[in-house]
Amino acid sequence: MSDTITTTLTMLGAIAEDPDSYVAQWKRRTGGKVVGAFPMNFPAEIAHAAGALPVIIQENREPDSIGRNLLAEFYCGYTRNIADQAAKGRLDGYDGFFLADHCIQLLGAVDVVRSESEDRPLYFGQLESAMGATWTPEVVREKMRSFVDEMAVFAGTSVTAAALSRSITLFNENRRLLRTLFAARRSGNARLTATQLQSLVKSGMVMDKAEHTRALRHIVAGLDEVTRDHRVRIHLSGHFCHAPKPEILQTIEECGAIVVDDDLYHGARYISTDVAEDVDPLAAISDWYLQRDANMPCPTRVRHATDWEDRLIESIESSGAEGVIVLMAKFCEPHMLYYPQLRKRLSEYGIAHLLIETEHDGVPVESIRTRVEALLERIRRTDRPAADVPEYQDVVK
Ligand code: SF4
Repeated sequence: MSDTITTTLTMLGAIAEDPDSYVAQWKRRTGGKVVGAFPMNFPAEIAHAAGALPVIIQENREPDSIGRNLLAEFYCGYTRNIADQAAKGRLDGYDGFFLADHCIQLLGAVDVVRSESEDRPLYFGQLESAMGATWTPEVVREKMRSFVDEMAVFAGTSVTAAALSRSITLFNENRRLLRTLFAARRSGNARLTATQLQSLVKSGMVMDKAEHTRALRHIVAGLDEVTRDHRVRIHLSGHFCHAPKPEILQTIEECGAIVVDDDLYHGARYISTDVAEDVDPLAAISDWYLQRDANMPCPTRVRHATDWEDRLIESIESSGAEGVIVLMAKFCEPHMLYYPQLRKRLSEYGIAHLLIETEHDGVPVESIRTRVEALLERIRRTDRPAADVPEYQDVVK
């Protein structure tokens, strides 16, 4: 890997680690407004088209303190940390907030943000979650229209169709570049670690999209040739809204695994779907919301035609993953409710898997190490056919 790529990866990793500093620096540099967007469905293209910087609000690394009293213990780590950040003034760099989701716990956290940030606008557009209903496309289109209108009020400028189309094109390129890197990983390119790939996605949720895209172009252009090795190929699954801690990813790889694919929000889920560029941009954004769930089913949505477990099995067959590690944020209800189904399907297919629950405060690295080592040993001892690994040129498009 060249020195310049290493430098670029280090720069993106630093931004992923400390988004607040980037936001402050961007505001000083541009004088623009920053939109704090909550995961996982807000179409950031709309904020970008209004000239604002859309930033998906990340879990931070500070131990929770004040915020512990604001949400009950059985809220997930992400939402409790958001409440903590709001109470400590760590969200003061945002000029307003947009939310397009309705996980109950997220709503609770956003209520805390609303009460702690009374001087700033917070817009909640509840998107339809019955994805297959006949009325859904029309309702979603109306909601997307309301996002555009609210964003225009927030930014003090109109959001034109032409600006939205330009933002869509830029965001699509960004997603495509990330998918190229993910495809390289799937084919066995071991030179990007799971932590580095996560940093690429996470920094993209924070940075100015044009700046991030330039960095990605540089990395993709200098991508090394593939070197396959004999590490156990693992698929990471789950973990909505916030990124698994890098220590967890590092521990998994230190045990002798290579992460070849995932369906994490800070991973393949985030970049699964492009927005059509050849139709009315508002219609395209609405379709993106619907199509995204078809491509990468999410347990916070309801669609009878597709299932997450089917998608998971397809991914495993295509990547040649030999086992699955499910990363679940403790108390994440949508994931908890869906997990038994995933587990059942993995067992039916004889695919070794391990559940690791995560929390905001503390990572029990040694306990995780022991459990991952046991999983890998089980996979190595299983008389499974050699992984059918796709060729690099077949997966990099
Ligand atoms: S979907 Fe899960 S991780 Fe996201 S806010 Fe809701 S409970 Fe937390």
